[in-house]
Amino acid sequence: MPDIEIPCIQCKEIFQFTEKEQEIFYERNLMPPQRCPQCRGKKAGQAQAESGSKFEIVCDHCGKHDKVPFQPKVGRPVLCKDCYNASRSRARVA
Ligand SMILES: [Zn+2]
Ligand SMILES: [Zn+2]
Repeated sequence: MPDIEIPCIQCKEIFQFTEKEQEIFYERNLMPPQRCPQCRGKKAGQAQAESGSKFEIVCDHCGKHDKVPFQPKVGRPVLCKDCYNASRSRARVA
């Protein structure tokens, strides 16, 4: 099987779908890739950033539901973005 050239559906660059990759895809019964390796990498990175580090919180101050990029500590007050920023600016003023 020769290498196949596939135009990336995302950036329109032509990339090589190599013989080796074709074998792997064929073995696993997968569809040929539609994105070049760069775009595939980007997509994986994005998915990780979106799903990896968001924690649902309920603001201790205003009761609003929010998502924060860190694991809230149990027993510690958690603040939504607004209250957090407000408390920070207040702290700066005082
Ligand atoms: Zn691409
Ligand atoms: Zn709040």
